[in-house]
Amino acid sequence: MRLTASVRVERSRDTLASNFRPAHPTCFSTSLEANGYEGAMKDIQNIVILTGAGISAESGVATFRGPDGLWEGHRVEDVATPEAFQRNPALVQNFYDERRAKLKTVHPNAAHQALAKLDRTWAGDLLLVTQNVDDLHDRAGHDLENGGRLLHMHGELNSAWCLACDARSRFDGVMAAGPVCPHCHQSGGLRPDIVWFGEMPYQMERIELALARCDLFVSIGTSGAVYPAAGFVQTARYHGARTLEMNLDPSEGSFHFHESRMGRAGELVPGWVEEILSHGLC
Ligand SMILES: [Zn+2]
Repeated sequence: MRLTASVRVERSRDTLASNFRPAHPTCFSTSLEANGYEGAMKDIQNIVILTGAGISAESGVATFRGPDGLWEGHRVEDVATPEAFQRNPALVQNFYDERRAKLKTVHPNAAHQALAKLDRTWAGDLLLVTQNVDDLHDRAGHDLENGGRLLHMHGELNSAWCLACDARSRFDGVMAAGPVCPHCHQSGGLRPDIVWFGEMPYQMERIELALARCDLFVSIGTSGAVYPAAGFVQTARYHGARTLEMNLDPSEGSFHFHESRMGRAGELVPGWVEEILSHGLC
């Protein structure tokens, strides 16, 4: 069965080949023959899903960088770099305290809930990698026991990282108040457990392994502008995965995907989940 789309953007193999420069051309050719866009859905066992700001925006969470280039009125350089935190820790703590408080006013939408259903139901391997630091995926009903299959690669607003003892702990309060670390009992050492620009995203080894093994890579609500996440589609394709993008508009890396579906995540994702559950391994 072919993937269906409300609006479909298909790319010819010539276009895909011209836009992709694999380190090993033979592997690329073999991958397309064996796992191309026309491949059967029933062959899919291992899935990697990447989500970005777009899926949370539909729940009312401010996107990381708005059309004016600012994040809730702040330059990214002033609130999302280790240098900014050194320069003005109070400003940075207040910024994330406000974002954390706002989480209590937003709720998972149909896209979050559909992905949680897929996670609970899918018998094959699945890894949901989110770039979002909110807890909307977590609250949508994933089975988070035993580490779960949900990974926050850019950290979480509801987590604190103690610079005194290096421990991480769940946190939903006000960090600017200088709370005590539950591990070392020192106060004032906590920082937001957020991966800032210039810092290494979390669990890259696990992500790279999953990308190398997946049959299907799906990107939802991402701009395709922030690396390393923007390069995941190329890694997955290099290893032979089919690739699907769901986004409001074509992303900067749209041409890397076998298929693009344009529209709201809350409308597209539930339909796709039903599609994959009815044709895939489950
Ligand atoms: Zn500590």
